[in-house]
Amino acid sequence: MAHIVILGAGTGGMAAAYEMRHKLDKEHQITVINERDYFQFVPSNPWVAVGWREAEEISFAIEPHLKKHDIDFIAQRVDQIDPDQKTLLLDNQQEVSYDQLLIMTGPKLAFDEVPGAGPDGGHTQSVCSLPHALTSYNNLEALCENPGPVVVGAMAGASCFGPAYEYAFILNKELQNRKIRDQVPMTFVTSEPYIGHLGLGGVGDSKSMLESDLRNHHIKWICNAKVSRVDEETMYVDEHNEDGEVIKRHELPFKHAMMLPAFKGVDSVAQVPELCNPRGFVIVDKHQRSPIYPEIWSAGVCIAIPPTEATPVPTGVPKTGYMIESMVTAIVENVAAVLKGEEPHALATWNAICLADMGDTGAAFVAIPQIPPRNVSWFKKGKWVHLAKVAFEKYFIRKMKTGNPEPFYERQILKMIGVERLKE
Ligand SMILES: Cc1cc2nc3c(=O)[nH]c(=O)nc-3n(C[C@H](O)[C@H](O)[C@H](O)COP(=O)(O)OP(=O)(O)OC[C@H]3O[C@@H](n4cnc5c(N)ncnc54)[C@H](O)[C@@H]3O)c2cc1C
Repeated sequence: MAHIVILGAGTGGMAAAYEMRHKLDKEHQITVINERDYFQFVPSNPWVAVGWREAEEISFAIEPHLKKHDIDFIAQRVDQIDPDQKTLLLDNQQEVSYDQLLIMTGPKLAFDEVPGAGPDGGHTQSVCSLPHALTSYNNLEALCENPGPVVVGAMAGASCFGPAYEYAFILNKELQNRKIRDQVPMTFVTSEPYIGHLGLGGVGDSKSMLESDLRNHHIKWICNAKVSRVDEETMYVDEHNEDGEVIKRHELPFKHAMMLPAFKGVDSVAQVPELCNPRGFVIVDKHQRSPIYPEIWSAGVCIAIPPTEATPVPTGVPKTGYMIESMVTAIVENVAAVLKGEEPHALATWNAICLADMGDTGAAFVAIPQIPPRNVSWFKKGKWVHLAKVAFEKYFIRKMKTGNPEPFYERQILKMIGVERLKE
């Protein structure tokens, strides 16, 4: 009998737990460890931040759902990983040993890289976690009582740009709904070299389409932007040229600012010798396995993927749900093979498929492979994307509760956009 421990119960960890249970004989024990006792559907956080969702609608207690599938759950933070002894030390000093460890810890939010940034003691808001989105909503209410300028965007080193665009357009819609948009000048500030780069070197005509949308919604923008610090009501932004030289220093006043931070790997993972790159992201081979520790596998935001291209201000590659599911499926196959004494063989397809809500419309993109040049590079806009994202939210939360092991993204999204051929 083997003990499989899954560290992290987010998009990757929950899917891995159910898929692993489905795949392995019952004699094997599966334990999920997560620092919080609830699951949050991260893509809905921007909606929480404008009051379009309640916390209870997009989160649920993990334990009862995993229990139904004979999966153990521990709600504790993992503070240390000892890969030689194959043990984990938890926040409550409990020690857990493993035979195979799946690391799916998502990002550490590196607000500390920009003085004055972040919701915990800083002056900018975030939609990266449910508590942050709730705090951001309170800040938005204050803005609505006393309207003034807004800044939305992504810091240097950020890798997740879609939610910044989503939040800008959603916020625009909410301010229009409240009939105060005319009192709120908006600026989009991004480390991307151009609008629509998305950390992916652009997808289809994402540049023109998103520029056009920002113009249509009267949102100004600054690209190649590095936020150097944030005061209570001012953001200090250095704009760079293609050679990485500062060409303009902006002082942007704001009443409300939502800036996505750079991501790093979480401390307990980053501290394991030789497991990670300098940013604390887990280095994996083509089978999602650590080349140094064969019992360690990793998927999701916490793995190391090199940037698509060098940019004047650093940007990273986004790791989105579709590719995370594909990584998870590969790991489950490979762990099952290893437990049978076989070699790992399954490969993840690192393709990007994403739906971004824009309030009443939305934008969808498909990038296969993720890094250009591509076989498929597709970016489309329409009301159907908004509707699809709402449907997808319901479906995904249900899937995370019930453990339906069928990969949702592949079947539903590809069917919806009529590109079944992309499966290859
Ligand atoms: C605001 C936002 C919106 C997004 N929207 C989309 C979208 O629409 N579509 C899309 O495809 N992708 C989207 N993404 C990207 C990506 O799909 C999500 O970030 C996704 O949640 C990543 O899954 P994950 O499993 O890697 O990490 P997470 O979902 O972040 O899960 C990691 C889990 O590990 C836990 N953990 C961390 N450290 C420890 C520790 N030491 N001990 C115990 N537990 C720990 C965390 O608490 C968390 O529960 C979005 C990302 C963000 C930030």
